Amino acid sequence: MAKRYSIRRIKKNQAYTVAELAEETGVTEQTVRRWLKLGMVAIDAQRPTYILGEAATEFLKAQRVKAKRPMKLYELLCLSCKKRRAPLGMLADYTPRNPLGGRLSALCCECGQECFRNVSASQLPDLRQHLDIATRGSE
Ligand SMILES: [Zn+2]
Repeated sequence: MAKRYSIRRIKKNQAYTVAELAEETGVTEQTVRRWLKLGMVAIDAQRPTYILGEAATEFLKAQRVKAKRPMKLYELLCLSCKKRRAPLGMLADYTPRNPLGGRLSALCCECGQECFRNVSASQLPDLRQHLDIATRGSE
């Protein structure tokens, strides 16, 4: 899902073949066929497949929104997994940087390495609903 594509060049009222749409968005035809399987709407069931620009744009915009799933409040970024992870045992340390916020650190629930997240002090009450947070002295 990390593959980048461009939707800027797609014209709303133009019908594209799989090859043309691949060309306009900068992906392979295989990727376009995958989009069709995932729900991008073709004009009809005839061959060759044509996709209306508008349908393609709508589908791809929706995919982007899905990809931008907001980070859950209690998730931290694990530098080792390069993914958002819940802290091991839901334990975290909070190191204030200033009165407004600081850094949350914890151990990754998957790999045990340190993971981090910058948080604002105002998020702490919410965070404490999910995590057991120990506050460390300021640096
Ligand atoms: Zn990890």
